[in-house]
Amino acid sequence: MSKEKWLEGLVIKAQSGFFTVQTTRGPIVSTVRKRLLQEKLNTDPVALGDRVKLSVVEEYEEGQVKLRGVIEEVAPRERAFTRQAPPAEGRRAERLPDREEVIIANPDQVVFVFACAEPEPRFKMLDRFLVIAEKSHIPPLICANKIDLVGRRKARDLFGLYEAIGYPVIYTSAVTGQGIDELREALTGKISALTGPSGVGKSSLLNAIQPGLGLAVKKVSEATHKGRHTTVASEMFPLNGGGYVADTPGIRAVALFNVEPAELDGYFPDIAPFVPLCRFNDCRHIDEPGCAVLKAVEEGDIWIERYESYLRLRDEAENVFYRC
Ligand code: GDP
Ligand code: ZN
Repeated sequence: MSKEKWLEGLVIKAQSGFFTVQTTRGPIVSTVRKRLLQEKLNTDPVALGDRVKLSVVEEYEEGQVKLRGVIEEVAPRERAFTRQAPPAEGRRAERLPDREEVIIANPDQVVFVFACAEPEPRFKMLDRFLVIAEKSHIPPLICANKIDLVGRRKARDLFGLYEAIGYPVIYTSAVTGQGIDELREALTGKISALTGPSGVGKSSLLNAIQPGLGLAVKKVSEATHKGRHTTVASEMFPLNGGGYVADTPGIRAVALFNVEPAELDGYFPDIAPFVPLCRFNDCRHIDEPGCAVLKAVEEGDIWIERYESYLRLRDEAENVFYRC
């Protein structure tokens, strides 16, 4: 005996063709209607974070109700973190694969976690992440962890420039508990993609926010790292107060393949205001006469480190296969 129903939900787990959809009737493991797979060839038709419509079949097995779903419709994505899908085996010579892989759809924010020490913060990586966030229209939040190792003042010396640019920075210690309430509050009710180098304390922070959360997230991300070429599983974890967090290590491997070198300056909120003042409207801000950006760097209105990041990323944008 079976009867069909329609439900709406959120994809909270993706694993080799199966998607777990959170619905009003709990999580339902679902497959995807073949038609959807055939319609969208240049992106993942269904991904973590997608809002979907399911047809659900109730099956009675030994007196137990079991729900199975088929994803029939996917709501248009408001935004997404994507990366270029790796080229298929044996096709390395093909320089520009034309498919994108969706790391997470519709995140409300992306949290970049770095440590103040052990390991030393990698600001070039942070600047690169920030450009990817700006390009993807996803509000970033910076988390400066391990403040217990350096003290609050030193932590501010390190990360304060990002606050001056206008990015929110939360200073935390998973060891002393400083900033944990603030971080929990920033995550509650939102879908957050979390990323950062390993060892900075992501799992510890999540455990501090909610017991068990860090462990659960780490298990998935470790399994994912073992997978070759394709992501084995990706998952979002519910927060007690509402919202979800997903560890998204894949963001680290995002190349700036869809960033035009000429649009890059627009993704630096500290550089962008000077761009219209350059003498040439196609100024690259490298060595052009009358460049307002170079002048601002000289006068200390743009931090030299950020300008160096701009130069590096400009190089990367011009060379798709540059690696961080
Ligand atoms: P992940 O790889 O980013 O998930 O990092 P982990 O949570 O596994 O933490 C890496 C190491 O840093 C562990 O030894 C933690 O105990 C330590 N750690 C995490 N957060 C802090 C912190 O705020 N202060 C200090 N001193 N150590 C921390
Ligand atoms: Zn210029």
